[in-house]
Amino acid sequence: MIYNSRQQNIAQLIENDPLKSKWKNWKWQLRHAVKSLDKFEELLGVQFSNSEREELKKTFNKFPLAITPYYLSLIDKKNFRNDPVFKQSFGGIEELITLKSEHEDPLSEERDSPVEGITHRYPDRVLFHVSNICSMYCRHCTRKRKVGDIDFVPSKEQLKKGIDYIANTPQVRDVLLSGGDPFMLPDDKIDWLLSEIGAIPHVEIIRIGTRMPVVLPYRITDNLVSILKKYQPLWINTHFNHPNEITASAKEALAKLADGGFPLGNQSVLLADVNDCPRIMKSLLHKLVQNRVRPYYLYQCDLSEGLSHFRTPVGKGIEIMESLVGHTSGFARPTYVIDAPGGGGKIPVMPNYIISWSTNKVVLRNYEGVITTYKEPDRYEQKMCDRECENCNLDLNLNEVDETRAIGIEKLLSDTDGTISLIPEDNERILRRDEDAG
Ligand SMILES: *Cc1c(COP(=O)(O)O)cnc(C)c1O
Ligand code: SF4
Repeated sequence: MIYNSRQQNIAQLIENDPLKSKWKNWKWQLRHAVKSLDKFEELLGVQFSNSEREELKKTFNKFPLAITPYYLSLIDKKNFRNDPVFKQSFGGIEELITLKSEHEDPLSEERDSPVEGITHRYPDRVLFHVSNICSMYCRHCTRKRKVGDIDFVPSKEQLKKGIDYIANTPQVRDVLLSGGDPFMLPDDKIDWLLSEIGAIPHVEIIRIGTRMPVVLPYRITDNLVSILKKYQPLWINTHFNHPNEITASAKEALAKLADGGFPLGNQSVLLADVNDCPRIMKSLLHKLVQNRVRPYYLYQCDLSEGLSHFRTPVGKGIEIMESLVGHTSGFARPTYVIDAPGGGGKIPVMPNYIISWSTNKVVLRNYEGVITTYKEPDRYEQKMCDRECENCNLDLNLNEVDETRAIGIEKLLSDTDGTISLIPEDNERILRRDEDAG
């Protein structure tokens, strides 16, 4: 049912005698987004105590409240305090708690920002923040302090700075549009932005990160899809965290995107008391793949301010991965990652499967606990790569192959780079050597 009785009731409270077509109009949904405690109480039909109201108001002064009527309609009123949609959208006074280990910008996105709006962290791809607003403000948002702070949609001139940076940086082959939510921009601005970025010769793919299919699926209109179709290859990533979010409306939005020909991915955040359970997670992942969405990442909750109540130990994520590997389809399984505080990027984390190793055998264990051996080849001719590709027996007769030099751990494995160790900048032993020499 696209328009059920719960939704009808909410629509009735917003507007006398609303038409069903209004409920499915994304602009109507945005206009009536719930942004105050009073409105929330009225539409859900619940009441908080006076003391709780005071604290909640302080919370919403610090981190703004916004819930689309559609997303609100997913909350089970009878058991609302325990409801996963309630916890993600309404939050609570725990958000006022700030720990020493938390930061406003835990991933240092601003320090890695060459121009306003761009985070350039990895060699070949950039994150481009094209909007500061969302239709629903996730209480667990990693950009909590920034998103929704001031309702801010960058002008074309401001976006142009980011576009120019990409155009002037030839190593960028992958542009990830994020925000806020890029689909908060009007259709004509999205069209313009994609045409500008799509026209840059070295940009091979564009990706869009959006939570619209989850919180405002009616945003995925035929008009939007027909605009997006002009800019293939375009990858779209969304953000479902709980199986309850996969409703008839969400399915319809996902089907439109999948039929439009966009590969769909999903990034979930591991959230205490929302989805920190192998059974809930598996149900979510299965529903995603049924709707042609490939689970991409499962994020360990970041060290952003006010998120301590959402964080689980890393062990919980590993336990969930253990329950997935081998137990379900390989493509239903996301990669569990910790986004390194300070800006190191995403680090994949897995249970251990290699138990031991000799010169010709690897000892592994499988998901059932069976311990097995893989016999390695007795003879393997080492390819000592000196980058003299003409004399190599591999055929590298290709244009446009990667020319970049090895960095990081890759450097330690390289035959052409003489580096034997990576040493922290302030290593005392090495500093002492330099002093002695000097
Ligand atoms: C996540 C992220 C990307 C994209 O990373 P992938 O692993 O390629 O999905 C790019 N830039 C920044 C700053 C990111 O946080
Ligand atoms: S949709 Fe994304 S950017 Fe917007 S509030 Fe949620 S997590 Fe933050």
